[in-house]
Amino acid sequence: MRTSTPPVRSEGRTHITVKRCCERCNRELGDATEAELDAAVNGEPLPSVADECGCLIASLAVLTVADHQDDTILPKTLPGGASEGQCTCGETYRVAAGSTFAQALQAHQVQAVHDTLRRNR
Ligand SMILES: [Zn+2]
Ligand SMILES: [Zn+2]
Repeated sequence: MRTSTPPVRSEGRTHITVKRCCERCNRELGDATEAELDAAVNGEPLPSVADECGCLIASLAVLTVADHQDDTILPKTLPGGASEGQCTCGETYRVAAGSTFAQALQAHQVQAVHDTLRRNR
């Protein structure tokens, strides 16, 4: 974790520590490191901090959930009281007896997010 030093006022002057922002979403992450300050001074590209920020992973998760929604195809009833729903990705998801379509779809979405994040590591 980065430290985040607040502005310090002393002898009538305010000392501000240079902060590093995410190059992807612009969120402030905390104090810039020595290496980042050196790169900035030398006009070199700053190392990416999108992983540290987490915004890339978060947006991938949101986009993945958006890709996995309940399809309009009518649910199928399976023997034993279970059912089967259809996802917009083309896969079917099994709805166990006593559980709802929303729960089953959510479990399918969670699995899809896991798979997406694993592929993007
Ligand atoms: Zn970010
Ligand atoms: Zn799906």
